[in-house]
Amino acid sequence: MDHWTDSVESAISAVQQAMSHPGLSSEWTSILCAKLRRPSELCPDVRRVLEKNGWSRSQFRSPPVRELLLRDLRELAQSDHGPPTRIDDERRFDRQYVIEEKEKPVGEGTYGAVHRAFCNRLQKTVAIKRVKMEHEDEGMPSTAIREVAVLKAADHPNVVKLLDVACSPGRLHLVFEFVDANLKQYMKKFGLRLEPEVVRSLQKQLMKGIDYCHARRIIHRDLKPQNILVDGEDHLKIADFGMARAFNLPLPKYTHEVVTTWYRSPEILFGCEEYSLGVDVWSAGCILGEMATGAALFHGDSEIDTIFQIFRKLGTPTEADWPGLSSLPDFKPTFPQWRRRPWTEIRNIASQLGSAGVRLLDSMLRYDPACRVSAKQTLQHEYFNVDSDTMDAIMAD
Ligand code: ADP
Ligand code: MG
Repeated sequence: MDHWTDSVESAISAVQQAMSHPGLSSEWTSILCAKLRRPSELCPDVRRVLEKNGWSRSQFRSPPVRELLLRDLRELAQSDHGPPTRIDDERRFDRQYVIEEKEKPVGEGTYGAVHRAFCNRLQKTVAIKRVKMEHEDEGMPSTAIREVAVLKAADHPNVVKLLDVACSPGRLHLVFEFVDANLKQYMKKFGLRLEPEVVRSLQKQLMKGIDYCHARRIIHRDLKPQNILVDGEDHLKIADFGMARAFNLPLPKYTHEVVTTWYRSPEILFGCEEYSLGVDVWSAGCILGEMATGAALFHGDSEIDTIFQIFRKLGTPTEADWPGLSSLPDFKPTFPQWRRRPWTEIRNIASQLGSAGVRLLDSMLRYDPACRVSAKQTLQHEYFNVDSDTMDAIMAD
């Protein structure tokens, strides 16, 4: 065996041994480092693959994604021109995915266009999101790699699957399973009138997806109908989860999507910097109200307008509703005072959701994040656990 083949194969076997180690990432990473040869004994191609996966000076800056590392090494081993001169992720990418209708994206969000494409390896349609990354000449920072590893490992029927990540200078390609429509488009297709049963099923799937991610400490931060996808069989999948933070993306100056404040929780609107999982529960509550009535609950055209829209329905909050409220940076004691309106007076919410649904909505839209239900608790809620006969009786009330 020549030196090149030997070097590639021993690196592959080192990664495989690390993969079969069930322990902590720090443990298998040190096993991996010990099994890899000294830098001087590795051939330059293997070294480049390792460096691309976060290796420098005989160690990893953070645990690598073993599957990605293995895949890169295997591709190196299979390259048919003998030792290639350059490992080019972009070339691999172009060979593997055929983008359909390049000029017409299926979606345009905050960070970039999403195109439909066909994956030759998986033999299925995928969605490719291209994100421009400025000032990223040195590849992805290690914190980003760690977060991407969490997202890549996420595997739940209600979270859109991230299948592949390819990184080239200044550009990032994220490959997802393809899902027909986003929730905004889906609602439009039904004339903004969803059947109560459909609302209940979609909301339950939404809460399951959120609960799964929250259990892994992934917060979405930007849940809204455009970031929620629904397939032809009414399966709901949350998109855009943790992405902005994982890639440390600044908000682009020019975006096709107007950044909406409609689903933003009061703690974020009042400038609280330490917010948590409750922000997603608030957004999911707004989405429940919107699915039930066909229009956004708090459709303000600015932050302050959204705040006042919330006050008009839920009443201006007081220190009793939310201890600590008056010390939040953007809360003003001079805010106008509105009285709380009962849900039965707000559009057709009560007739669409039934009394159990209204109770759930109410528990999700609590001002004080500490009093808001958790995603996990909502899954035990009576709204989701009534059988359809009971549901009919509730709706007939
Ligand atoms: P951004 O981070 O730029 O907001 P999103 O991931 O929200 O990007 O995608 C923007 C739009 O592209 C979505 O609103 C949706 O219409 C479409 N889209 C996103 N992901 C998929 C997917 N996996 N399958 C089909 N369409 C998608
Ligand atoms: Mg989006």
